[in-house]
Amino acid sequence: MNELCQLSLKRAHQLLKQRKISSVELTKAILMRIAEVEPELQACVTVDEDMALKQAEVADKHISAGKIQPLTGIPTLIKDVICTKGMRTTCSSKMLENFIPPYDATVMKKLKAQSVVIVGKTNMDEFAMGSSTENSAFFPTHNPWDLNRVPGGSSGGSAVAVASNETIFALGSDTGGSIRQPAGFCNVVGLKPTYGRVSRFGLVAFASSLDQIGPITKEVTDCALVMNAIAGHDPKDSTSVPYHAPDYTQSLVPEVKNLRIGIPQEYFVEGMQSEVRTIVEVAIKKLEELGATIDWKVSLPHTKYALASYYLIAPSEASANLARYDGVKYGFSYADADNMWEALEKTKQFGFGDEVKRRIMLGTYALSAGYYDAYYLKAQKVRTLIRREFDQAFEKCDALVSPTSPTVPFRLGEKLEDPLQMYLSDVCTLPINIAGIPAVSIPAGFSNGLPVGMQIMAKPFNEEILLQIAFAYEQATDWHERKPPI
Ligand code: GLN
Repeated sequence: MNELCQLSLKRAHQLLKQRKISSVELTKAILMRIAEVEPELQACVTVDEDMALKQAEVADKHISAGKIQPLTGIPTLIKDVICTKGMRTTCSSKMLENFIPPYDATVMKKLKAQSVVIVGKTNMDEFAMGSSTENSAFFPTHNPWDLNRVPGGSSGGSAVAVASNETIFALGSDTGGSIRQPAGFCNVVGLKPTYGRVSRFGLVAFASSLDQIGPITKEVTDCALVMNAIAGHDPKDSTSVPYHAPDYTQSLVPEVKNLRIGIPQEYFVEGMQSEVRTIVEVAIKKLEELGATIDWKVSLPHTKYALASYYLIAPSEASANLARYDGVKYGFSYADADNMWEALEKTKQFGFGDEVKRRIMLGTYALSAGYYDAYYLKAQKVRTLIRREFDQAFEKCDALVSPTSPTVPFRLGEKLEDPLQMYLSDVCTLPINIAGIPAVSIPAGFSNGLPVGMQIMAKPFNEEILLQIAFAYEQATDWHERKPPI
């Protein structure tokens, strides 16, 4: 492996700025690495070498002219649920297999304004529904720590690409854990911003009240740099908040003294692997050693209803959002039908995979007359209770800490036949989306050579404290420096 692809974003930027390397050199190293490991990992859906090299040349020109921003000339891979103008955006679905968006998502516009190098798009669970990247209509992605295991999902391709040096950083999306769980499974950093912090314009909608775009990076510093680029108000997204986004690099102080960190007991759930529990407890003790005050007895009793309410709210919103794939407006269209109804039916029958159909059915049922009050409305009420409980916890604590996932990466195929088991993979991450608060997953240790992630949560619009705690922990440990064998 060419050592350039091992660079962190921060380091790559320094070297580009000092003109010790060029963006073309860096991009070529990345493309070589992709060619080397993709046959085994299958993290990418699309790689456009020519376009990447052209963008790198443009970036080099800017740099020569003294115009360099933190992401200028940096190669990146983007989860294939984010619209990229002129570049295929599939959502890993047959439905959008040949869909080329006519516009860029706002986050893409922001990255392009810095002259970033877009190398390609990463594999995911179809329409972001899943926790293992096995629901991709194309192929499953493999975990670089053990090729027989899943990388997590749905942003599995992005997490794998960052972990195995196929990119300098990546973007993912998170509706119930899709950035944090794969980040935890792959030993990288993944941040889900507060709902409304990052524009969703151009993010293909799964569950609109839960979706957020966020960074997946090798280190915490890189995460702050990417947040600086993508956060902020966007008039094109009415749910993005008109607050000023701070300079997140200001939070990178390795200091947790005077911070009070709560440990919500309900997050150490039944069925959690004991190794995972132990590793995260050791990590929490490290934070204590570093000077944080730990409150081991925080309780969030409504947590137990989060999974059930998520699986009413998310499918309900999905069933509405996915109605647009009717064979007329976008993508796949069944051609041999005798009439319109048959065309509509067959387009959905052949265009969507099983999990997507399951969600549409669950959602349609929950929203139907007579059931709406019993299911959807009730789930929304529980949602308010969960949010309130977090608000109360944050009156006493600056942050909360838990495992990111109850298990280490599981085997490919292990949970495919049992959707409920798959859904349980997100018990620790779902409540965060339900409440709309920010959370980050960082590397916290290994169990038999498999990564374990630690999740840090904070009150809305306090990504700074997440980055501060994450940075302090990262400075004091070397988990993030361990790289997969591939
Ligand atoms: N695994 C969860 C689901 O399938 C969350 C996915 C996500 O965050 N996009 O819905």
